[in-house]
Amino acid sequence: MKPLQPGATLGIAGGGQLGRMTAIAARRMGYRTIIFTDERPGCPAAQVADGEISSSWYDQAAREKFASQCDVVTVEFENVPAAFLRGLNVPVFPPPAAVEICQNREREKTFLRQHSIPHAEFRVVTDPETLAAAQKELGGAGVLKTADFGYDGKGQKRLHGGENAAEVWAAFNAPRAVLEQWVDFDLEISVVCARGQDGTFAHFPVCENIHTNHILDISIAPARISAELAAEAAALAKRVAEALNYVGTLAVELFVTRDGRVIVNELAPRPHNSGHHTLDACAVSQFEQHVLCVCGWPPAAATQHAPSAMLNLLGDLWPAEDAPRDWSAVLQHPRARFHLYGKKGAKRGRKMGHITLTADTAEEALAEAKALKETLAAGSR
Ligand code: ADP
Ligand code: MG
Repeated sequence: MKPLQPGATLGIAGGGQLGRMTAIAARRMGYRTIIFTDERPGCPAAQVADGEISSSWYDQAAREKFASQCDVVTVEFENVPAAFLRGLNVPVFPPPAAVEICQNREREKTFLRQHSIPHAEFRVVTDPETLAAAQKELGGAGVLKTADFGYDGKGQKRLHGGENAAEVWAAFNAPRAVLEQWVDFDLEISVVCARGQDGTFAHFPVCENIHTNHILDISIAPARISAELAAEAAALAKRVAEALNYVGTLAVELFVTRDGRVIVNELAPRPHNSGHHTLDACAVSQFEQHVLCVCGWPPAAATQHAPSAMLNLLGDLWPAEDAPRDWSAVLQHPRARFHLYGKKGAKRGRKMGHITLTADTAEEALAEAKALKETLAAGSR
């Protein structure tokens, strides 16, 4: 595809905060944006876009109307039905085949296995018998994960070994799943990278991700790992991007195992929560990278100019749903950048916004983020 010029229109499938920040990036670069969402009108992305179509993914007329207004289409979350993406008669990046692999854990893990990319041992599970066999083969502890629609730890069951397969499967209530061997890890890291249509690859410095209640809490960059491990993680991300024939921003989540290896955990075919700091701490953001690559340009140099910590603002920090809250601790902080996503209804665990803190080291940024989180939590009690 020839690079799109200003005034061209980028279609974004999905209406959440990732679509919102992608649309803002597109605007800064002179593009128009149209959002397609199956949620109610007024979603976070549509608030900053030039147009919005709010309809079922399976409504052919709506899909055609969307495509007729777009020069190129991308996704902001992986669960857009592949049939929707394939049915658009405009270019779609990342390629629908890549999205289809990443939206289902069975396909994703099988892809990693086929390409000899290090990952946790797993077995596909479809009934109590296959679960019992998988438990026996993998031995000991593991995590049972639904094949479809898992996120933020949802659709997962930790197994400690010796559970009754029939009982576990009956309670799990999913048609297909993977059982993964338990990984004894030191750290969780991610590589946010981008690949252009010409195959040019760029990656941001590796992030270190700290989860609380299975939801990303704080992400620091660069990660506190050796240069060798960081290079290994980046090389794995590049192999993944190439094997997927990927175009756009891609996030690869990895574990640093206790015995010092890096293995891939999961893939996100889109900008990622652990890359939000790139808006404030890097020469280009993960959203700008996504827009550049999708619109036919090579990715920019992904340099980071200050160590950072990104703190997610979950609905838990609001005193009550839709209650105003005091942000002065953030606004008066000399090195904090504040982002809200325009969401109504601050619910527990809901991602409402984030803060990026920069400092002289990632360690210092992390300490600042923790202190700010404490201050904000105190203000919501
Ligand atoms: P999602 O982010 O979609 O909820 P993940 O597969 O990333 O799903 O799992 C969520 C979290 O659960 C991981 O970030 C990690 O902390 C933990 N986890 C997942 N798989 C394993 C595993 N095989 N061994 C140990 N911990 C795991
Ligand atoms: Mg994950």
